[in-house]
Amino acid sequence: MNVLPEQGFRRVMHCDLDCFFAAVEELDNPYLAGKPVIVGGDPDRRGVVSTANYRARRHGVHSAMSAAVARRLCPNAVFLRPHFERYRMLSDQVMAILDDYFVTREQVSVDEAYGELPPGVPGCRHAVDIALDIKARVLRETGLIISVGVGRNKCIAKLASDRAKPDGCLIVMPGREDAFLHTLPVGCLPGVGPHTRAKLERMGITLVSELARTNVEALQMQFGKTGSWLWRLAHGEDDRCVVSDHGPPKSLSRECTYERDIADLERAQDHVRALAEKVARDAEKKRVLGRSITLKVKWHNFEITTRQTMLPAPTRAPDVLGIAARHLLATHFSPLLTADHAIRLLGVGLSNLLSESHPGHAQGIIQLPLFSSDEPSADFTLLPDNPI
Ligand SMILES: [Mg+2]
Repeated sequence: MNVLPEQGFRRVMHCDLDCFFAAVEELDNPYLAGKPVIVGGDPDRRGVVSTANYRARRHGVHSAMSAAVARRLCPNAVFLRPHFERYRMLSDQVMAILDDYFVTREQVSVDEAYGELPPGVPGCRHAVDIALDIKARVLRETGLIISVGVGRNKCIAKLASDRAKPDGCLIVMPGREDAFLHTLPVGCLPGVGPHTRAKLERMGITLVSELARTNVEALQMQFGKTGSWLWRLAHGEDDRCVVSDHGPPKSLSRECTYERDIADLERAQDHVRALAEKVARDAEKKRVLGRSITLKVKWHNFEITTRQTMLPAPTRAPDVLGIAARHLLATHFSPLLTADHAIRLLGVGLSNLLSESHPGHAQGIIQLPLFSSDEPSADFTLLPDNPI
């Protein structure tokens, strides 16, 4: 800890709130103290676990697991529905704290962000002081626990924060990357999902050290570009930049899995309209306008179909988004919709976004609905081949 990083070394930090949703619920509901807590969907329906606290995780519960399975594993757990508004509020507070430390801060999800410190030079504040300062401030100002990992690139910083949990801070000093990485299982590396892990195992590779010793050409043969990317990660190399996310988001979307599959077009239209309204509200909060609208359908058999259309000008008017999305449904999906081929999930997305302060949108902004009737019609004008 008393060694300063060598001059010129990157110092990337990965800050990740511990069991975020569950931690917020525990903060807001003192009766949860000491209990296993699972935040997510309804176990009696088709709910999925969003976050479980450590007491629930001890029973094998984890994120993305079906809530019904989680209840079988941990019958005493308290199941709660998520309160996203509250999480977003606290997340914004935490990100604002991080902004006091980093010139470039990249939020990668609601509860985690990368930050980059100036290259290590003598006299510069040591990363460990900054990491401990961040942890103390986040706890004092929000009541939440954040784990911090520091390394010379994003991959090492992220792996370090994962290993630091719960409530930890792990700094991988320059020159110690191999010692840190080589004991880890390959499944820890970004981009290694169950499929890749199984394939690597068949090649006799279970540890990062074994991956590092493997011939890079052999990995390229098996995995293409991903093969050389994984090989470089195993050697502690990752040149991805920390990208500031202060600009507008790239896309916004809302989706919903329905309790019962939808076979009726009218019901589906109502849901699409509701989703489009939510997306419009999100766009208003983010102060962006969008040019493309996407409709996603997951069918009863889990097949996914998406269709997209361009709007004539960037907008976030709820009616316009709703009409465009419903038009997509009517045109592309209604012929496929039958009692035997029903909809399990609907999603509406807005992309090709630009900030409302962007000079380019001024003449194109649509503020009012363009149609007297809000029923999609055959001569629907919001199509690229029929611009206004
Ligand atoms: Mg987290």
